Amino acid sequence: MDRKVIVLVAHDAKKIELLNWVKYNAHILRNHTLYATGTTGGLINRECPDLNVIRLRSGPLGGDQQVGAMIAENRVDFLVFFTDPMTTQPHDVDVKALTRLSVLYNLPMACNKATADYVISSPLVFDPDYRREVPSYSTYVERDMKRNEDDRVPA
Ligand code: PGA
Repeated sequence: MDRKVIVLVAHDAKKIELLNWVKYNAHILRNHTLYATGTTGGLINRECPDLNVIRLRSGPLGGDQQVGAMIAENRVDFLVFFTDPMTTQPHDVDVKALTRLSVLYNLPMACNKATADYVISSPLVFDPDYRREVPSYSTYVERDMKRNEDDRVPA
């Protein structure tokens, strides 16, 4: 089985639900590298110390953006982010950015328990022969570089 990088995040109202999901799936998760935003990771490490979750900054203090950077660098295989749809979040833009990056890079992102259950029980998730396609956006990148050359002011 491939060792994957799984990132765990939950808004405050969803942290216990995520913790219970992690406990239920601990026998699977312990074979993978786990990251979490600060408070989520602190809770999981206290309740499930053998999982050794690597803690990033707290979500609203830049932790979500750290996750975003990991996604942009193709260092994440599965993002579990239990979001609270009933509370306004001060870092709502960061959450939106994560959703966008996950779509951009074709990354599985589970925003609720049912989706997380489906993904973690899929035979494809940990199948070493299954390669998730990660778009390179080379056409976009090259178009940008060409435009920069056109914009260059002659010496
Ligand atoms: P936290 O961040 O784990 O530090 O609470 C979660 C979030 O992004 O809301």
